[in-house]
Amino acid sequence: MTEQADVIVVGMGVGGEMVAGSLADAGLDVIGVEGNLVGGECPYWGCIPSKMAIRAADLLAEARRVDGMAGHAQVDSSWKPVAERIREEATTNWDDQIAADRFTDKGGRLVRGWGRLAGPGQVTVDGTTYRARRAVVLGTGTTPAIPPIDGLAGTPYWTNREALEATERPESLLVIGGGAIGLELAQAFARFGSDVVVVEAADRVLPPEEPEASAVVHAALEADGIALHTSSGVSAVHHDGTAFTVTMADGSSRTVQRLLVSVGRRVDLGSLGVETVGLDPSARAVTVDEHLRAGEQLWAVGDVTGHGAFTHVATYQAGIIVRDILGEDGPPADYRALSRVTFTDPEVGAVGMTEAQAREAGIDVRVGVAQVPSTARGWIHKAGNDGVIKLVADAGRGVLVGGTSAGPNGGEVLGALSVAVHGEVPIERLRHMIYAYPTFHRGIEDALRDLP
Ligand SMILES: Cc1cc2nc3c(=O)[nH]c(=O)nc-3n(C[C@H](O)[C@H](O)[C@H](O)COP(=O)(O)OP(=O)(O)OC[C@H]3O[C@@H](n4cnc5c(N)ncnc54)[C@H](O)[C@@H]3O)c2cc1C
Repeated sequence: MTEQADVIVVGMGVGGEMVAGSLADAGLDVIGVEGNLVGGECPYWGCIPSKMAIRAADLLAEARRVDGMAGHAQVDSSWKPVAERIREEATTNWDDQIAADRFTDKGGRLVRGWGRLAGPGQVTVDGTTYRARRAVVLGTGTTPAIPPIDGLAGTPYWTNREALEATERPESLLVIGGGAIGLELAQAFARFGSDVVVVEAADRVLPPEEPEASAVVHAALEADGIALHTSSGVSAVHHDGTAFTVTMADGSSRTVQRLLVSVGRRVDLGSLGVETVGLDPSARAVTVDEHLRAGEQLWAVGDVTGHGAFTHVATYQAGIIVRDILGEDGPPADYRALSRVTFTDPEVGAVGMTEAQAREAGIDVRVGVAQVPSTARGWIHKAGNDGVIKLVADAGRGVLVGGTSAGPNGGEVLGALSVAVHGEVPIERLRHMIYAYPTFHRGIEDALRDLP
């Protein structure tokens, strides 16, 4: 059996849903293929539920800061409202009817099942072949990478999914991986009272970000009672039906109720039939050009392209694909001002290159740093004010190529840095801008003063 459509989108996550919906809105006949939930990882097990948990955990932390600044607060935490909010408001109990209707109401056709490429312009789902007249778009996302640790397979370890489906906070939790997702969840559970350990192989948490930001987050997590083991690994895992015994590379061991594996995400091209369109099934991502084209009649969007696993990258790329398929003009993909936020408290916002990346790229680098507690707003803020603003400048061109804003509202301060990097605003103009007093973003002016 064969069915035809103008466009077939395989994977209706953040990126796929936007491409499919926009093209259906534009009047094309679009088939969206989804094996799980329309909407993808972000609304059901990613950004949204994790930020709901973090919002609640941050409220607890803020209430605990009342002592010494505004009297006394007695704080009793409960995970129940978090679990309920995730079920009722974020995921409607992991039901995607609203998202599915959002697509079909635009005229799109939703095919439920796992799609597989079967040659240029062709996708099979459960024995039916779908043929695309114009385009196939791959938006199949990522799954959690699971390290080959002795004894881990077959144990009831958590990934982000089980962690965000939890109805109770664990008594104790060991997190393997000190990246953004691992740290966000570690801190959230710790603030609800879980006894949390984080094990990170690199010599610092948040290894891709500036070392100054890692240091700020490290100190904050320790202040939350989290035991951090950097330059450390897990060599074996055992589950006895009740608890995990986790053996570290140094031979020591820990017994914990829950184990969260958070060592990164992986793209699985092996099951997508990409070899039928001339792509390498063992590649770590689908290689795309600046219009997100991956081959004949083929585009790819989101995490599967390997350009940073973020919702805003998926939606940015989706816009480019939609214009390209519709034959409209528009700028090609440009990742120089790629921004990202780790929603720990303090938040770490970052855009563009780190100092190390800029030096590696051969840029004539200058850096300027401001300590948030020494800025006017940081000093006023006092409790929970740790943070750093770091600017990475290209001295030759007189522009910023990167910036980091770790601290209270670090993700919002990032907005100004993103405009500066994206717009290639001359540093001299930034130096003569009026920065509202006393805001956190005014710390950028302090960092500019430190910039030689
Ligand atoms: C815990 C966590 C927190 C996060 N927080 C943030 C955040 O704060 N900010 C941010 O920007 N990003 C965050 N992310 C990342 C964000 O969720 C992803 O970048 C985003 O979901 C990527 O969208 P996507 O469309 O590429 O893939 P996905 O959203 O993963 O969607 C892919 C879809 O394809 C489907 N699929 C896969 N294979 C097939 C197939 N063969 N046939 C049919 N369907 C298929 C899947 O079922 C899925 O629905 C977070 C991720 C996690 C895990």
